Amino acid sequence: MNFEFSDTEQEFVARVERFIEANRDDDVMDVSRENMSQLVDTPKRRAFMRKLGEAGWLGMTWPKDYGGQDESGVYEFLLNEQLAAVGAPQIGKGVGIVGKTIMRHGSEKLKREFLPKILNNDVEFAVGYSEPQAGSDAAAMALKATRDGDGWRLNGQKIFTTSAHFAEWYWVGARTDPDAPKHKGISLFLVQMNSPGITVTHMPTIGDEITNMVFLDDVYVGNDYMVGERGKGFNYISEALDLERFTMFTFSPIAKRLELLLDYVATEERDGQPLREDPVIRKTIATLVTETEVARVLGLRFVAASLRGGAPPTVEASEYKLYATELSRRIANASMDVIGPGSQLRVHTEGSPLDGRAESTYRYTVIDTIGGGASEIQKNIIARRKLGLPKNF
Ligand SMILES: Cc1cc2nc3c(=O)[nH]c(=O)nc-3n(C[C@H](O)[C@H](O)[C@H](O)COP(=O)(O)OP(=O)(O)OC[C@H]3O[C@@H](n4cnc5c(N)ncnc54)[C@H](O)[C@@H]3O)c2cc1C
Repeated sequence: MNFEFSDTEQEFVARVERFIEANRDDDVMDVSRENMSQLVDTPKRRAFMRKLGEAGWLGMTWPKDYGGQDESGVYEFLLNEQLAAVGAPQIGKGVGIVGKTIMRHGSEKLKREFLPKILNNDVEFAVGYSEPQAGSDAAAMALKATRDGDGWRLNGQKIFTTSAHFAEWYWVGARTDPDAPKHKGISLFLVQMNSPGITVTHMPTIGDEITNMVFLDDVYVGNDYMVGERGKGFNYISEALDLERFTMFTFSPIAKRLELLLDYVATEERDGQPLREDPVIRKTIATLVTETEVARVLGLRFVAASLRGGAPPTVEASEYKLYATELSRRIANASMDVIGPGSQLRVHTEGSPLDGRAESTYRYTVIDTIGGGASEIQKNIIARRKLGLPKNF
């Protein structure tokens, strides 16, 4: 058993580190945005991603026929982990969800139109699955798509559409066949965000960032912007979610947050006593260090399972997502407890312990246990698919 990366893989990490150093910019890299730093939501962040594209690092795992390099998925994993560690934007929806689904299931027209733009980072997408009555149970989505000549009219509401306030295209699920069983009546569309009839309303989150409600009022979309086959949308969504669960919840920020706490414990005192000598704190830290190693290995297990090919490793993705995001919360809770009242000072407040990261991490990590499928849903997946337990709903 070998848990180390090969020499070539380590050389790639070194190249990415040099790239990051050469492009250091506080407006582009901000660890205090926690997991939301992955968004490519400002012109400077877009320019940074374009440079990644020029370096040939967007779509590395795509086939050469589509402009990729046929590289192993391990390179995408290593790239994202390095970017996440410094709070830089990361490859996500375009290269992952949209690009990979279009390559597998999309028409030649969609491939020609979108794949080159994704590789150059000339387009941003928002993903619209969740609705007020369809979150965990995404297959219950009710946004209506009705036939109109050569296209469709979309009517209804989406909720929690992150990126809708800056994306150009909407990757949206709609019910095209209301009489079919709920998993089979959904189709996927690509809709321009500036189409007449789309209204975007911000929703502030507990973690300082915004997500959005999107209202669709008689929005027209041509039939050639339906992705893949009619009624197969939910299959495509499920396939892509396996990928999202892993790529959106990187490990390196967790390790960095733990490092911050370890430095604090190693150097600070309370009531004249070094924190590192406090038996309760020592026990807490030892547990977190061990758990962080477990999260790291669960991540590597997912990577190894993906590299074997075949069906996406759904169970491994859920095990990692569940464990890593819940661990993030435990580290945040421990930071608040160990630091005490000063931990409540806002991020970047002058003189605050850990530069206020305990407080911001505490708020942000809640979100990670919900987005991409809540913890309870990951447990259901593990219970059913790994352990063969009966469905609970
Ligand atoms: C910051 C943020 C960004 C997001 N971005 C996007 C986005 O870009 N696009 C998008 O489409 N969605 C997005 N989401 C939505 C996210 O996928 C949903 O919030 C999530 O799937 C949960 O759905 P819900 O909020 O409707 O909660 P519900 O499904 O109503 O769940 C409420 C609670 O009940 C539990 N629960 C539900 N069903 C079961 C069950 N069967 N068994 C046990 N427990 C259950 C859940 O775990 C949860 O604790 C985002 C969410 C957040 C918080």
